[in-house]
Formats: sequence, structure tokens, C-alpha cells
Amino acid sequence: MTVLGIETSCDETAASVVARDEDGRARILSDIVLSQTTEHAAFGGVVPEIAARAHVEALDGVVEAALNDAGLSLDQVDAVAVSAGPGLAGGLLVGLMTAKALAAVAAVPLLPLNHLEGHALTARLTDNVAFPFLLLLVSGGHTQILAVHALGRYERYASTIDDAAGEAFDKVAKLLGLPYPGGPSVEKAATSGDPARFPFPRPLKGEKRPDFSFSGLKTAVRQAAEKAQPLSEQDIADLGASFQAAVADALADRVSRALERFRNAYPDLGEPVLVVAGGVAANETLRGTLTDLCATHHFRFLAPPLRLCGDNAAMIAWAGAERLAAGMLVEDAASFAPRTRWPLDSAATPLIGAGR
Ligand code: ATP
Ligand code: MG
Ligand code: FE
Repeated sequence: MTVLGIETSCDETAASVVARDEDGRARILSDIVLSQTTEHAAFGGVVPEIAARAHVEALDGVVEAALNDAGLSLDQVDAVAVSAGPGLAGGLLVGLMTAKALAAVAAVPLLPLNHLEGHALTARLTDNVAFPFLLLLVSGGHTQILAVHALGRYERYASTIDDAAGEAFDKVAKLLGLPYPGGPSVEKAATSGDPARFPFPRPLKGEKRPDFSFSGLKTAVRQAAEKAQPLSEQDIADLGASFQAAVADALADRVSRALERFRNAYPDLGEPVLVVAGGVAANETLRGTLTDLCATHHFRFLAPPLRLCGDNAAMIAWAGAERLAAGMLVEDAASFAPRTRWPLDSAATPLIGAGR
């Protein structure tokens, strides 16, 4: 089967066609991502109104390009999948309305999906990984650990009590005068920095409670930056590297507890799997830290290719293909409304068909 995916929940306008064969193997036939970086750069962050307008202007062309690259016409796809939340209301509405129109014209099912499920299932798009697995979801809006028991069955083990990890990267970039988007520019600056120069706190390290916290760390970076004024290029590199090391370390500490909990939940799994997903999963320091952690705990570690860590539509098309294959269709999809908030572990959307 072949699914057209559409993604407009934040500042990426994206469309992709993904094929899934009967054995569950995936092929990405096309993957178009148009980032609105230049539109938002002057403001140092995403401006919702600008994002929505940019999606309106770009989406038709992006969908056309995705179909062209795949060598397919609209009537050759088996379903249209779209990010229906969580995210910015305007962007979600643009994507959902477009997807509804395309699905109606092609007379195929519409799959309104949770954007986070796209991130969560990316590892199954690119690698051979079975359910259940443990997921560290680290993105711009979310920092969570979830047990992925099965398709559509998520159990939250931990989440942030303040900022998301990606948000912390974005704020630290801003206060260091590094360009938006923050994560990649902090990582780049940090390559020539000393991660041991600033002994930043590792929030909640060693604590039993299943939480993340990043706002105290961000404040510590701000105070250190104020003390070191005026900042030289080396100061910025050192602050970035020290911050990045603290984030990776804090995340790893929280994950190490979750590894134990997951192993206790599934004592018979030969080699349990930890998957990392979301924009921050592109960070090499974090990937290295998690690789080491998993080696120690005898987990297999999987991280998507860099290109598929941030927002894209291939992950949406793939999540759609998984749901279509399982017969998990949403009841009355044509009147599905965007959900700006939509926890991945919340009660399931009413389904029709075999997935019920
Ligand atoms: P959500 O998925 O929670 O709705 P989102 O879609 O905006 O939020 P993503 O696109 O998945 O988030 O990820 C974007 C975030 O990832 C941004 O905060 C960005 O700074 C961060 N990020 C991207 N690349 C890196 C990197 N190399 N290192 C650290 N952070 C990064
Ligand atoms: Mg983005
Ligand atoms: Fe995302």
C-alpha cells in the first residue's frame, strides 16, 4: 500500500509518499520538507501567524512535488495521512483541510494522526524493530519516556515538569546570541568548546520521581553567561558544550531508570530496544551518551537517520501506513478537528474496523 503524508504542525511544510509491503517493510518514495527557517529567523522563533500563512502558500506545491518524485498521481495512493495535532492551530488546520480535500477527491481513507506517533514510529520506518520498545521522545515541545506496547498503545513513564529539551536548546541559543533554530547552532558552536568548563547542574539526577526539568539548567547557563560578559567566541563554545553535556547527562540519568522499569515489565525480551526520536535526537552528544548507556544496560539502541529526526512527512505517511494495515481507521475522519494539545498516551480516538 502507498500512503501520502502531510505535515504542517509547526514550521515545516512537508509531504511524502511511503510504500509499505505486506511484510511491513517500508520504502520512502518521496520526502519533501520545506523549512520556514528564513521566515522566522528575524524573530528568533516560530511566529504562528507567519507559519500558517507560509503553509497555505507552500503546501499545494509541496504535495505536488511529493507525488511527482514518487512517480504517482493522487488516485494511485491508498490513503492520505496528516498531522492533526499537537501543534499550532493555524498550521494544523491548513494541513487537515488540505488532506480532507485530497482524500475526498481520491476517494481514499483520511488518517488524522498524532504528530508524536509519527516521531514514535520513525524507527520502524527505517529499521526492523518490533513492539514493544522503549521510547525517548525529545523534541521542541515534548520530553517524555514512553513504553510503546503496541501500535496506538503508549504508556508514559516520565515527562518534563517545565521546558522541553528542544525548547531549552532554543532558549540557550538565544541567550548566547546564536541563530535560530537553536539546537543545531548550539551543537555546532559546542564542537570547539570545553564541556567541562562550566559545571552546570544535572536536574533531578539520581532522583526516583519520573520527571525531567530543564528550566533551572537554562537559568544556570544565563547566570554563567552574564558573569562572563563580554562573551568571546570561546566562551560561547564552552557554554554551549557544557550545557549540551548537562542535557545529555540529565536525559541519560532519567532514561537509565526507565530501562529498568521496562525490563521489569518485559523480563522475557531477549534484547529490549531503546529508540530516541524527535528533533533533539539529531544531537550527536546525546546519541553518544545513549549509545554508551544502552551498551551498559544491554539494550539495543536505535536512532533515526538525522534527516528523519526533525519534522518530516515520511514519518506521518508511515504511521498512516501502519494504522491502515492494522485497520485502525478513525470514525468520521472527515469532521476531525485539529487538536492543539493531544497527549500520545491519552484515550484513543474512536476507531472503526479491525482496530477497534
Ligand atoms: P513537537 O514534535 O514536540 O511537537 P516540534 O515538532 O517543534 O515539537 P521537532 O521538529 O521534532 O519539534 O524538533 C525541533 C527541536 O529540536 C527544536 O527545539 C530544535 O532546537 C531541536 N534540535 C534540532 N536539531 C538539534 C540538535 N542537533 N541538537 C539539539 N537540538 C536540536
Ligand atoms: Mg521545526
Ligand atoms: Fe515534531
